[in-house]
Amino acid sequence: MSLRVFHLDFNSAAFRPDAVEAALRAAAASGCNAILWEVEDKVRWGTCPEAVHPDACSKDEFRRLVAFGRSLGLEPIPLLQTFGHAEYVLQNASLAHLRELPGEYDCYCASNPEVRSLLRRWIAEYCDLFGAVRFFHLGGDEAYHFGQCPHCASRDRIDLYAEHLLSVSEDLRRDGVKVCIWDDFSRKSTWWNKTPDECGDRDISPLCPFVLWNWDYSPETDFSHAAELAADGFDTVVAGSASCHGDDPFLPDWEHHLDNIAAMRRAAETPGVSGWCITSWSIRYGLKRLQLPMLASDPETALAAVLPGLASDAALRALRLAGAFDKRLAVFLAQHWTRYKDSRLAPSGWLAGRIADRACVVDAETLRQRIPELIAGLDEAAATLAKAGRDVGPGAKPPSFSALVLEGAHLKRFMLSALGAALELPGFAAPTTDSLMALRDRTIAYYSIEMTPSTARRAAEVVWNPFIDFFD
Ligand SMILES: [Zn+2]
Repeated sequence: MSLRVFHLDFNSAAFRPDAVEAALRAAAASGCNAILWEVEDKVRWGTCPEAVHPDACSKDEFRRLVAFGRSLGLEPIPLLQTFGHAEYVLQNASLAHLRELPGEYDCYCASNPEVRSLLRRWIAEYCDLFGAVRFFHLGGDEAYHFGQCPHCASRDRIDLYAEHLLSVSEDLRRDGVKVCIWDDFSRKSTWWNKTPDECGDRDISPLCPFVLWNWDYSPETDFSHAAELAADGFDTVVAGSASCHGDDPFLPDWEHHLDNIAAMRRAAETPGVSGWCITSWSIRYGLKRLQLPMLASDPETALAAVLPGLASDAALRALRLAGAFDKRLAVFLAQHWTRYKDSRLAPSGWLAGRIADRACVVDAETLRQRIPELIAGLDEAAATLAKAGRDVGPGAKPPSFSALVLEGAHLKRFMLSALGAALELPGFAAPTTDSLMALRDRTIAYYSIEMTPSTARRAAEVVWNPFIDFFD
């Protein structure tokens, strides 16, 4: 049976158990048969107590969630990053000696025996927590600094990558667990810090023991790389996304994701492709509830169904307008401002600096057009959504889907207005500090529908503090 996976990512957010359970119920009702659990620091780990978030759940609490998922037919797939995206570990000063480069806290040194020892012990603790699993995901995406320390740089990159993976996964493979990785290292275009000429026609056969998950979140993709991998005999899974780079902090860009997920489902039918995964990157902050209808085999019908009282085409137009964003504007938003998944607050003066640099990224004419266009779309969407009724069905509970979209649209509208004022666009007045702080409080309440209070507060601060700082 092929894998149909939903990704629950706890980076940047500790989720309320009821929100996780709602997501599990919706995933199961939509035909998913597995959950990719990217837990990071949100469980009280013994192996690495330095990487335990204050809101981390106990192992018993987490076991209950995994068991609930299993009871719904959702096979658990644990994910532990073993190359990059180890910010939650390596930002701790006491573990800085495990970094690949002293000044970069995202990537492990793959040559350091202490790294391999830590990861093997941690994998064992994961196995104890999750119980028997068929698949275990070891991450491996966006390891931008892989292979750069003096010791690693002297090695053949693909050999070192495969050696590290084989080493840390030895116990898993001995027990018959299929080891999965994101497919970045199978792509020449992402052999970081190497030009295509330097890559040459490299042999990726050392990756043969692993299931390669080809992620591509573009609405235009045809997942041709997955087809190539499958044709070459690699065990391949395709991954699209319901929440990724390009989304604003409040609403998913439904149109973008629906096109991407449709392409992913088509690619999953390719001979040799053994399933699909819909990722949901929590560093984008939007509510899971607003993404869940996209898991359905017919997501457009599912989205229209959670907006009862609206004709299907009107409902979908409203969502398309509400979710629309211009990813060029993301340079002015402080999510991910460090380029790392660390939820750090931007320093004072950060937004002013981004605006001073804007000519490098977005021209003034584009800004003058796009921001008012997006706001007009939000206003039209809000007028339509206000006529929707309350939704019922799996995962539905107060507040209604339409109320959540309306609240997200309200927050997004005022964020865009604040950005327009910061950019000194005509027709945008500077907001008062009090109004921005009120928007931040509303955002805390909005995120708290799913997140714990402290992670909701941090997320809202990441979004709004640069504006409060700018207009202060
Ligand atoms: Zn190294």
